Amino acid sequence: MNQKGLLIVVSGPSGAGKGTICKELISRDESIMVSVSATTRAPRNGEVEGISYHYLSKDQFEAMIVSDGFLEHAKVYDNYYGTPKKFVIDHIVNGDNVLLEIDIQGALQVKKKYPEGIFVFILPPSMKELKSRIVGRGSETPESLEKRLSSAYSEIEYIKNYDYFIVNDKVDHATDILQSIILAEKCRVAAD
Ligand code: 5GP
Repeated sequence: MNQKGLLIVVSGPSGAGKGTICKELISRDESIMVSVSATTRAPRNGEVEGISYHYLSKDQFEAMIVSDGFLEHAKVYDNYYGTPKKFVIDHIVNGDNVLLEIDIQGALQVKKKYPEGIFVFILPPSMKELKSRIVGRGSETPESLEKRLSSAYSEIEYIKNYDYFIVNDKVDHATDILQSIILAEKCRVAAD
């Protein structure tokens, strides 16, 4: 039997709805611990320090890289993002299940260090829907919208590195699937 907690890594293109699914998941299952990432990007309206992200200056972020404070870190759309290592390790060792919502570059780094993680890729129902979701957020400039859309096409290729995919047509249904995956993984017989 596996005594350690599960590390659940969720990624997918911007606008696929991974953030919404993760929020719905933790509202249904309070036992899942969410890792709060560090970022150098500015807070958006309504975001809260320590809950949405830890907002760091570039110098602070770089100091944390030097002190080996990140499980993974990556540059995404001109800003740095990283997963603080201690929170994740402490909880996994303690038997808690930990959720990371990170980009693909970060997920690949985590997979190298911790291949027993569960890697889940969220897909939008269509590229048309993806575009209208990003536009609907109202937080992107025309340039950053273009950047996010063109990245989405190349990012989808990376699905082959993941264990599972979920098509996010409806948040409730997509979250049902994610919960089912987690439940099945909790029941997995250990390999050795
Ligand atoms: P946003 O700026 O929209 O909040 O996030 C942009 C992208 O950065 C999203 O794909 C999000 O999943 C990713 N991201 C958020 N936190 C992290 C992190 O800690 N590490 C990595 N590698 N990506 C992250």
